[in-house]
Amino acid sequence: MSDCVFCKIIEKEIPSEFLYEDDLCIVFKDINPKFDTHLLIVPKKHIPTVMDMEDGDDKIIGHLIACAKKMGIELGLPGYQLQINVGKDGGQEVFHVHVHMMSNFV
Ligand code: 5GP
Ligand code: ZN
Repeated sequence: MSDCVFCKIIEKEIPSEFLYEDDLCIVFKDINPKFDTHLLIVPKKHIPTVMDMEDGDDKIIGHLIACAKKMGIELGLPGYQLQINVGKDGGQEVFHVHVHMMSNFV
């Protein structure tokens, strides 16, 4: 998706520090953090919203949660919030599915 900011970050067209990367997803810090720790867990596949999920995408979305667990252990976070905004009316601004991982622990 040429006009998608997260695809550009994944393709390294926009420089960004990846905290984690594997075959299915990347993790980087939110540019405008609302918590002391505010990460974005983003699938490499361009899925615009949860409402656009296709067969097999449940594996990808599940992987994002597993990735959050991994990051939580790595960062030593005792707790955090995971949030997916869905659609314009759900507060979504970037139309490439992502999980917000937010914590006031650092
Ligand atoms: P949404 O409202 O779509 O769930 O959240 C989009 C998030 O992406 C926002 O919290 C916003 O700060 C973040 N964001 C938007 N553009 C960029 C960017 O270019 N780099 C990073 N790191 N975060 C971004
Ligand atoms: Zn995208």
